[in-house]
Amino acid sequence: MTGSRPAAAPPPAVLQLEQPDRPGRRRPPRHLADLDVAGRRAAVAELGQPAFRADQLSRHYFARLTDDPELMTDLPSAQRAELAAALLPRLLTAERELTCDGGTTRKTLWRGFDGAYLESVLMRYPDRVTMCVSSQAGCGMACPFCATGQAGLTRNLSAAEIVTQVFAGAASLARGEVPGGPGRVSNVVFMGMGEPLANYASVLAAVRRITEPAPGGLGISQRSVTVSTVGLVPAIERLAGEQLSVRLAVSLHAPDDELRDELVPVNRRWKVAEVLDAAWGYAAATGRRVSIEYAMIRDVNDHAWRADLLGELLAGRLAHVNLIPLNPTPGSRWTASDPDVAREFTERIAARGVPVTVRDTRGTQIDGACGQLAAASRPVG
Ligand code: SAH
Repeated sequence: MTGSRPAAAPPPAVLQLEQPDRPGRRRPPRHLADLDVAGRRAAVAELGQPAFRADQLSRHYFARLTDDPELMTDLPSAQRAELAAALLPRLLTAERELTCDGGTTRKTLWRGFDGAYLESVLMRYPDRVTMCVSSQAGCGMACPFCATGQAGLTRNLSAAEIVTQVFAGAASLARGEVPGGPGRVSNVVFMGMGEPLANYASVLAAVRRITEPAPGGLGISQRSVTVSTVGLVPAIERLAGEQLSVRLAVSLHAPDDELRDELVPVNRRWKVAEVLDAAWGYAAATGRRVSIEYAMIRDVNDHAWRADLLGELLAGRLAHVNLIPLNPTPGSRWTASDPDVAREFTERIAARGVPVTVRDTRGTQIDGACGQLAAASRPVG
């Protein structure tokens, strides 16, 4: 065993905030959905084609929800292939699809151009359809109760790789493939794999593409888009300055630093008080209620005194608490709170006048519920 040394330990999560793509890895190919309208026209002009072809492509992709060049009959057939090759490369391939709830919850395992795996989940309810999307392949935040956190970060996704997940759900709904008849995606939550604010530029471009009216983008209301974060304070502050009205969710999970340092390791860098200050700054800038996410873990963070402390921290603020019964991940020693304990926890928060709801945990059977996304296959090489 001469010369064989254990691999260097990965850097602590706090050092992995802005992750460049791994050395030696190519960036995902450029795609229409990476570009704003002006950028698309410039890209088409580079091919020596008239700029209005960019608008035609945009209408096919964002309004008609097709990326099949054969169906774009208003484009001269000689140029279709060239335009598609330059602006509509296949970014993600569905490797596996799992459904439950009579087909109205669907998890897709996607394989990227370089073999990176990621997942998205479509959830159809009577009054809305929510797409839960990944912002990174894997995640570097290392929260010990989260399946994605255990696997580490593979790489950031491009804006178009994020938009593609929403596009796929929207196209499938439009084709009537989801039980309940043809429909639309009404909500997008960045609650799949990854820490969206550690991939800021791509996530912001994706939010713009998802929310711009068609044919600029998919035309989903900003108010129906939620960006969920572990609490990267500088990035929350930056997001507050973007003149957007997307909802911010903060994954708090503990009201005290001692426990939060363990449950959300990035808390060692930005403490509870700083994260909440940034959240209130976001609420003030946008007028939007911040969602405080709290996974209820039996005998770990579900004590009455923690409910009281949480209520105290949030009382009078533009905030709402979303309690999530823990979805135990394989090999974890933790489990969900006892229902009676969860009820008391809820009541103690509500007693401070803080709105509180318990999250419905769809997709548990297909490992598609909160915190369960952990692409079963790992990239090769
Ligand atoms: N990195 C972002 C978004 C991804 S996770 C964030 O942390 O907010 C989306 C939500 O699911 C977060 O609130 C996360 O803390 C929560 N979550 C993760 N693992 C979970 C689990 N095992 N059970 C319940 N919720 C979990």
